[in-house]
Amino acid sequence: MKKLCFLLILSLLFPLCACTGAKQPEDKPAIAHSDPTDPPLLRDMPGHIPTVVLDAGHGFADVGCAGPDTLLGAWEYQLTIDMVRTLKACFERRGVRVLLTHDGEHFPSTQELSDLCDQYGVEYDAQKDQWEDNEIFSPYERVLYMNCLDAQYGVNYALSVHVNSNADSDRLNGFDLDYCKENPWSEESAVFAYALKEALEAAYPGRSLWFYEDSWEDAFVVTKYNSMPAALLETGYYTNPEDLALLRDKNWRDALMERVCDTICEVLS
Ligand SMILES: [Zn+2]
Repeated sequence: MKKLCFLLILSLLFPLCACTGAKQPEDKPAIAHSDPTDPPLLRDMPGHIPTVVLDAGHGFADVGCAGPDTLLGAWEYQLTIDMVRTLKACFERRGVRVLLTHDGEHFPSTQELSDLCDQYGVEYDAQKDQWEDNEIFSPYERVLYMNCLDAQYGVNYALSVHVNSNADSDRLNGFDLDYCKENPWSEESAVFAYALKEALEAAYPGRSLWFYEDSWEDAFVVTKYNSMPAALLETGYYTNPEDLALLRDKNWRDALMERVCDTICEVLS
């Protein structure tokens, strides 16, 4: 019952898929490596293997939108992990190292995560209310984990994959692509984001693509606290009939992920 109440509160607070915590009232923090006198980034070192972090949106006690009783027939987290597996295989075929925020089965405990942050010098705010043992692997915890992976391996790009919904209209459809235009990696994030925008618009002519260059205040947690360029991709609105048919189609999802992978690889090369 406690978990159900918690999920109910979550769903009331964040009725759309955009439950990755876009609005955060705190000030913009200092981010490691933002000073030009800092040591070179791992990802800029000679011989570095191109590396991406993939984040399957939601999972664990945070199921995301939709559900088995909806027309989608699955929770959002089940589709995001499926899409991330396709992405991972594609990147690995291209020689890109893939790190995951989670595999759908495990995620680091808050103690493990804070130990990792301490070990690798990743800054974190232990007072944040999203930092707690809540069994959801919160967006803030995910981005800290991304930054720990960056400190270990040097991450060129981070992408969080989602399925969208809209409670007010079944007409809203298409992709949503967000990056933060107000963190130290915004210029690099923009290169990836514009490449994805152009590739998706070319591959899916006529399909909407809602492109968001978010301020710090509006940005998703998993696109702004990052120590690497990042974006969040909403693959479609399950509440829209046309998008629903696409999202239910594994071949369509796989082809989309291949297109996303190809585009990111082109920017990385
Ligand atoms: Zn989502």
